[in-house]
Amino acid sequence: MKHDMPYKLMLSESEMPTQWYNVRADMKTKPAPLLNPATGKPVTLDELSKVFCRELAKQELDDVSPYIDIPEEILNFYHMYRPSPLVRAYFLEKALDTPAHIFYKFEGNNTSGSHKLNSAIAQTYYAKKEGLTGVTTETGAGQWGTALAMACAYFGLECDVFMVKCSYEQKPFRREVIRTFGANVTPSPSDTTAVGRDILKRFPGTSGSLGCAISEAVESAITRPGRRYVLGSVLSQVLLHQSIIGLETMAALKKYGVKADIIIGCAGGGSNLGGLISPFMGEKLRGEADYKFIAVEPASCPSLTRGKYVYDYCDTGKVCPLAKMYTLGSGFIPSSNHAGGLRYHGMSSVVSELYDEKLIEARSVEQTSVFQAARDFARVEGTLPAPESSHAIRVAIDEAIRCRETGEAKNIVFGLTGTGFFDMTAYQKFNDGVMSDYIPTDEEIARSLAETPKIG
Ligand SMILES: *Cc1c(COP(=O)(O)O)cnc(C)c1O
Repeated sequence: MKHDMPYKLMLSESEMPTQWYNVRADMKTKPAPLLNPATGKPVTLDELSKVFCRELAKQELDDVSPYIDIPEEILNFYHMYRPSPLVRAYFLEKALDTPAHIFYKFEGNNTSGSHKLNSAIAQTYYAKKEGLTGVTTETGAGQWGTALAMACAYFGLECDVFMVKCSYEQKPFRREVIRTFGANVTPSPSDTTAVGRDILKRFPGTSGSLGCAISEAVESAITRPGRRYVLGSVLSQVLLHQSIIGLETMAALKKYGVKADIIIGCAGGGSNLGGLISPFMGEKLRGEADYKFIAVEPASCPSLTRGKYVYDYCDTGKVCPLAKMYTLGSGFIPSSNHAGGLRYHGMSSVVSELYDEKLIEARSVEQTSVFQAARDFARVEGTLPAPESSHAIRVAIDEAIRCRETGEAKNIVFGLTGTGFFDMTAYQKFNDGVMSDYIPTDEEIARSLAETPKIG
């Protein structure tokens, strides 16, 4: 096969972005402000600085600066594993017999196995600079906990991870990677926090949820001196750090003269999707170019496609600021047969606002069709994808098949956020033919949505 461009659209170190891009600066309607749950008023920098370190609280509230310099120490760390490859999926195109050109940005080339390291290193850098001794967080599937443990090892910070109990038990290898990098791992809910003890009393034997682990991590962080809470998704600061994905993608596409038509990302809390599309969305918002953006979510946790755009709690314990977002209600817990991540009840307020303005489309897909796409992709492209990433693969394949039917040679770009090495129990279920799909009923969603706070 003779190719008109290389398999990998590489950037050299010197062609790498040195600033993050903040898409909020170009949004006419800004994402709704975070509210203090006690006063119902927008949170101030001082209030937010009690939870996050100050520089990150500033980034969280900054709706106006389009570019923010990436500090040199972070750039140096990025150089160890970035730029991440932007790959032309020649073999997938051939297998699908499509005229479309498919590209994927692969973020799984580091030990944490996902894009989460891009923000973990930034958040620990600012914590270290502020003189903190450590950070506390939660992890669901385990990628964020791993990324944060790696970043803390690099900067010499303590790291405590509340790991959703079912993952703690079902993913012992992920847990051990986290411990190897020096972090403490506690299964959540635990009896080490008031919120955890309360949840254990009300729901004995619960296998935990992300919302509950967040509440424990926040409580643990704010009750210990020299500590702050850090979060690996959903927040606007995380989208800012993840813009490195989109900026590199844009630079590589421009270098090779490719104009993207469709850009696809999986959406859990919205950080990889938001990061990938940010600079392209900036062009769209400024009227310089047009793109079709597609967010892909699991049918079992469909916050964009079936949720409501309202203020909601970010965590089960209701200790975090309130965010206006597409949400299924903070009490929503995806069915236990749901295998991968992407199980958060809400969505980044930036992605939510862009979706509400119809600048992004959303699709929900069922997990067996996601694993079929993962298998087909792995067999031709030689990378075992994370189940989360495979949501984007599913829709990229669907769009490429549509191009086969219409004969259009569209350029399709999708985010391949990570590898699936720690998800073998899910792959085993799929391979054994015992994986099933679960779609929540309207009543279930209405029940958890009824618990959202009454605001405005
Ligand atoms: C965490 C994670 C996601 C989902 O998080 P977003 O904030 O929506 O990007 C997707 N893929 C992988 C591999 C992850 O680790």
